[in-house]
Amino acid sequence: MARIKSLVIQVQIDAAGKAHNCQANARHRVEKGEFGLKVRNGRSWDHYCRACAEIIIDRDIRKLTDLRGFEISNASHHHDARPPDSAR
Ligand SMILES: [Zn+2]
Repeated sequence: MARIKSLVIQVQIDAAGKAHNCQANARHRVEKGEFGLKVRNGRSWDHYCRACAEIIIDRDIRKLTDLRGFEISNASHHHDARPPDSAR
């Protein structure tokens, strides 16, 4: 079994090779050369615009902070109700 060195190895920022739509919101256009977030999804990649990427990253930072606290989450306190992500 491989040693786990990172929980976020399957994401990276990249510059769009060609214009495409953000995969969180089809109305978000990522123009060629703009930076976006690339997330591994099975054998392909999902691409998000910067605005959505910041939401996703912020949410994961909170998630990681919670994990780092090593508390068992029992949903009685903070978040979980619904994600602040209005993009979906
Ligand atoms: Zn977007």
